[in-house]
Amino acid sequence: MEKNSKWYSSMVVRKEPLLIELDEADKVEKESSYKIAGAALRKKPEDFPTVSEPVLMRHYHRLARWNYSWDDGLYPLGSCTMKYNPVINESIASDSSFVSLHPALPDEATQGALEIIWDVQNMLSQIIDLPGLSLTPAAGAHGELAGVFMMKKYFEKKGQKRTKVLVPDSAHGTNPASAAMAGYSIVNVPSNSSGLTDLEALASLADEECAALMITNPNTLGLFETEIVKIKEILENRGILLYMDGANLNAILDKVSFGKMGVDITQLNLHKTFSTPHGGGGPGQGAIGCSERLMDFLPSPLVEKNEQGQYRNITPENSIGPIKGWSGHFGNILRAWVYLKSYGNEIHKVAERAVLNANYMKKKLSPFLEKVGVSANMHEVVFNQKTLQAKGATTMNFAKALLDRGFYAPTVYFPLHVNGAIMVEPSESESKGEMDTFIAAVEDIFKELESSDQKITASPHNTYVKKIDEVGAARNPVLKW
Ligand SMILES: *Cc1c(COP(=O)(O)O)cnc(C)c1O
Repeated sequence: MEKNSKWYSSMVVRKEPLLIELDEADKVEKESSYKIAGAALRKKPEDFPTVSEPVLMRHYHRLARWNYSWDDGLYPLGSCTMKYNPVINESIASDSSFVSLHPALPDEATQGALEIIWDVQNMLSQIIDLPGLSLTPAAGAHGELAGVFMMKKYFEKKGQKRTKVLVPDSAHGTNPASAAMAGYSIVNVPSNSSGLTDLEALASLADEECAALMITNPNTLGLFETEIVKIKEILENRGILLYMDGANLNAILDKVSFGKMGVDITQLNLHKTFSTPHGGGGPGQGAIGCSERLMDFLPSPLVEKNEQGQYRNITPENSIGPIKGWSGHFGNILRAWVYLKSYGNEIHKVAERAVLNANYMKKKLSPFLEKVGVSANMHEVVFNQKTLQAKGATTMNFAKALLDRGFYAPTVYFPLHVNGAIMVEPSESESKGEMDTFIAAVEDIFKELESSDQKITASPHNTYVKKIDEVGAARNPVLKW
């Protein structure tokens, strides 16, 4: 591919030294005029970099330009739901009346904030049709862990010792991790040829030592578990709880009833479906919902409205206790509130558009890549690497070749049970135009694979950092500072 072809970004990037290296070139006198008394004062200033503000500003600005964000273009990272985060969320979440609110203030002084938490609890509970809801967990995996603690306490109260958790191979990786962290051993349930949970295998593995099935629905192939009611029957007969990972809610938002599916515990990722900037370690929000029989075990605090119309933080009687400081990430609860209020009764349209977009991608990419699973797709689509391998390339080459064409790569090599998985999730935020540009990039990659001059196996060519020796980097890390 020519450097100046239509895919190449004209942005000039240059080598960026570390701040400590910039320090050498741009030494600023270290001032020790701080008024710190006695023992707290350093004898000798630490050797921190001390560059001037303009140098610092340019350093971070240049680094930021190496990055790729949603605002640059399509961000098709499957399972992550990288959708547009409306600016109004940010503007309201940064309003000083919220930002300066201290969580230690008494309930009487924070009625407005508590009302927002209460409102989000209720709206989400109504959307998923489950009576219990807590907003305190800090992320999806944290919500899972809290949910597993709840089921543990539930069985302890019943005096039942259950040591295993069933996890289908199409579950998100955090599901077995959360169950294992809480001390359960994991029983793997295979998928059938449609990419859904194998009911026969489930029936033979589900015994009275199992506390729960942790199923991701829609699963990590982007497929809805159509037999969920039968799955529930198998579990219920043996006293096993149904934990349904609801992080993929974007596909089924306000379209299905978790209650009617028989879900006992679920976690929703508000930072995904209800739009909060996430990834790169930003704070998340992993609300948990539960059925009647588990409500009493929810983490504290919950917000309740009393008969006088006042909002109060309360602790359920058998609560697993607090799992996060105060009410959790209030800023993200606030963003979810704005998002929910903006859509109102039209929120189901999010799911409709997300599913339509994923199926458009599936249809248009199918001439190039082989789709995994025969069932209808929800909000994402997973391909394997067979057609790439037939031309001597891999999923990794494909991902890097997309970077050359100015896109972020899809999620790759996940789920693990797929040969070189490529997981594409456009979300509802993408326009047809942007998706068509992405599809044209994929077409271009396959055209290059046909040519005698195959450059994709050496991709990326257009990024500042070229092909990385990943094994070498892991075995012989060269740490600069
Ligand atoms: C993203 C995701 C998780 C984990 O959520 P985090 O907020 O990253 O901890 C769990 N399950 C599914 C299905 C997910 O997509």
